[in-house]
Amino acid sequence: MTVSPASLTDVLDRIARAAKASGREPSDVTLVAVSKQQPWEKVAPILAAGQTVFGENRVQEAMERWAERREGVELRLIGPLQSNKAKEAVAFFDVIESLDREKLAVALAAEVRKQGRSPRLYVQVNTGEEPQKAGVIPGEADAFIAAVRGTHGLEVEGLMCIPPVGEPPGPHFALLAKIAARNGLAKLSMGMSDDFETAVRFGATSVRVGSALFGARAT
Ligand SMILES: *Cc1c(COP(=O)(O)O)cnc(C)c1O
Repeated sequence: MTVSPASLTDVLDRIARAAKASGREPSDVTLVAVSKQQPWEKVAPILAAGQTVFGENRVQEAMERWAERREGVELRLIGPLQSNKAKEAVAFFDVIESLDREKLAVALAAEVRKQGRSPRLYVQVNTGEEPQKAGVIPGEADAFIAAVRGTHGLEVEGLMCIPPVGEPPGPHFALLAKIAARNGLAKLSMGMSDDFETAVRFGATSVRVGSALFGARAT
């Protein structure tokens, strides 16, 4: 891999150091480069430097950007998914990290059957129980995961969370890890630009990093 942009080298170094400091292998942690709302001029150098996993939060925006550049790239949907977009999402993404309600599970299961293709799925957990935030609340996570697997026949790869802004993230990462462990799930998508090293220490297997790689998003 030819790594050149300083921000990519820096983020990968910090992941590696955090992994080693907690007795883990750097290769156990996947960097998901969150390219949402970034101009292509900022994304292109990171792609050219060998980064292959990217995260987007809107189905339409992701398809417009990546449809012609899909080769060798793993795309993850990390934003909320409307069930009426399940068809496009199942067809386009390698991973969907925002499965958080029954209606969406039904829609995804129907599309997986129809298309014969299944993105890897993460259940999003609202660890802070914030009313405005997506995700199942921790007390309902076990039952929801069981329904996704049993009733809807979908495989779950792991869990995802976005801790509340302005709170120490550690307890939220620990809670997600605990829910994953008791449900036999090995993958944890947690940690963003401000807290990905903490997330790695708490067992993240993928971190979703946007602004630390590409700079502040245009709003
Ligand atoms: C935007 C976003 C990120 C990246 O946030 P940064 O703070 O820019 O690293 C990560 N995860 C989700 C779900 C996001 O929506």
